[in-house]
Amino acid sequence: MNSLKVLYLINLLRNETSGKEKILAQLYENALDDNPDFRELRALLEENEFYFETGKALHRNGQNLLNAAMEQPADVFNILRAIRQAHEKIRHEAQACKRLLDEPGAFVEPITVVEKKHIPNYLKMLETLAASCAYLIAVYDGTQNLKRLTWAERAGFTERVHAVNLVFLPALCQINQIPRAWLITRKELGGKNLLGGTCFSISYLPYNHIKVLTSGLRTERLTPHFFLNMRAAETGESDVPYCWGVGNVVSPGPNDGLRLLQGQTFTKPPMPTREYLLKAPTNPLRCIMDLAGQRPFCVSPEDLVALMNYWQMGYEIHRRRQNRLCMFCGKPLPSGRMACPSHFSIERVRR
Ligand SMILES: [Zn+2]
Repeated sequence: MNSLKVLYLINLLRNETSGKEKILAQLYENALDDNPDFRELRALLEENEFYFETGKALHRNGQNLLNAAMEQPADVFNILRAIRQAHEKIRHEAQACKRLLDEPGAFVEPITVVEKKHIPNYLKMLETLAASCAYLIAVYDGTQNLKRLTWAERAGFTERVHAVNLVFLPALCQINQIPRAWLITRKELGGKNLLGGTCFSISYLPYNHIKVLTSGLRTERLTPHFFLNMRAAETGESDVPYCWGVGNVVSPGPNDGLRLLQGQTFTKPPMPTREYLLKAPTNPLRCIMDLAGQRPFCVSPEDLVALMNYWQMGYEIHRRRQNRLCMFCGKPLPSGRMACPSHFSIERVRR
């Protein structure tokens, strides 16, 4: 039977019977429980979190109406009308909040009503967004502007919504320079002179050009914005793209980008010491990782190429000393010498 009719009947009985109050109260409660508007409001209050004054007022009003319906049977029809308006309002507010949260861009409106069961997913999503912003800011712009961003591990839902929409996304959007795409090439400078004659040089090209130049290569993605020509790394092939990328070389990746905020980021590679120089710098990412240890890093492509050159040269010096080869031309040496005597003879020019 229609719950409104039942409520009406119970109220009628209540007025005309005595001594059965308890039974009637129970019947009344059951009938309220069957009423779809009452149930809807009660479910919404249980299933949602309510934030800020707007959300809390919706919750308070809803709770007051549920109590009033229980306590004021005589006025139940008016109260049920108000209950319907209340749950429609909450549902409307929840839908508006969901639309905002599902939007790709930043928003400034407060999130006032959210379904409890979705909150863990939203928390994860907000953390991922903040981490991706931190990562991209490091790639595009370095770490300077990351210093004013913070992410509290224990922050609640509204704090995270605020941080992502009013701090992280705007900081990313403030970057107004397109990061440069760059290409590092391994070059032979001529013979075995010049400490092995191998160096790395950097050039800046539009990314589309780099894509064309590297399209047929066996490529390893070292980070989302940094690529290696695997064949060149394995064989030492020269004058082909060795590695290339966009912006700074940054690790960890987008998912763990919040580690970049902890003030431990490694930005300037120190010159590698002897223990590192025992092997040639084949994988440039590995070179940085060896020096950075467990720290996250953000290294400019210019610092990367300087590191690779230093490493290459250090390795060559080490190799020549180890094998008793001339420092200048790489030829085997007579014992007790560091270089061929011929390199020190001066040719006199007659006038
Ligand atoms: Zn020599």
